[in-house]
Amino acid sequence: MRLTVLGSGAACAGNGGNSSGYLVEESNARILLDCGHGVASTLVELGSPDEIDHIFISHMHADHFIDLLPLRFAVTKHLPGLPEPCGHLHLPPGGRASLAKILEAVCFPADFFDVVWHVCEYEPGTPLELADGLTARFAGGVHYIPGWAIRLDGSSSLTFTGDTAPSKEICELARGCDLLLAEATLDAPEHGPVRGHLTALEAAELAEAAAVGRLMLTHFWHDADREAAAHTARSRLDCAVLVAEDSAVVEF
Ligand SMILES: [Zn+2]
Ligand SMILES: [Zn+2]
Repeated sequence: MRLTVLGSGAACAGNGGNSSGYLVEESNARILLDCGHGVASTLVELGSPDEIDHIFISHMHADHFIDLLPLRFAVTKHLPGLPEPCGHLHLPPGGRASLAKILEAVCFPADFFDVVWHVCEYEPGTPLELADGLTARFAGGVHYIPGWAIRLDGSSSLTFTGDTAPSKEICELARGCDLLLAEATLDAPEHGPVRGHLTALEAAELAEAAAVGRLMLTHFWHDADREAAAHTARSRLDCAVLVAEDSAVVEF
């Protein structure tokens, strides 16, 4: 399994970076996890915006899906006269209605995405077989709106937390996976009863509790100190700790 970080930023990535986006490649499938600001242009630079078999959106915050709009244009430009959809767009529950409102607001037709992708909403309790020997599973996170972590099992295994505060469900989903791609948005836990993100220490605690092979920290604000986050996580964990940077590639 090969992971390319297309965007490791949070709602404002800064420094020329992108918001959330990750390309996962197996021998028989290419999967895009999230499509935040800047991700479409980066996919175009990689040369194959129309060769994504499955796109998963973790939740309907703009930094995780807004570049579906330019990506759709990139696909139609790449394949003019496209006869039929060339991949699947898997939205979270309620995602279709959210996208419909956006399409109406920007005066795009209601079938804007259906022209290029089979658009559906995943059911978090139902695993999906994406290709021979490659499955996707989901677990609900703790965020300001409903959001889901996504686990891919193929030649190896990856769990992407999406945006979440500490979550037992995500810990169970991630158990024993080879790579945990975990958000580490916060410098310190949020105060008050409403939480929606992790610190680097909490991401490390999640990795430890789930006994994963490796941890990659991601979803950083524009002014985050990524190395400090990595240092914090390494002080807690025995397993390897990576820090996501745009364009980084990991094979595992
Ligand atoms: Zn986010
Ligand atoms: Zn979010």
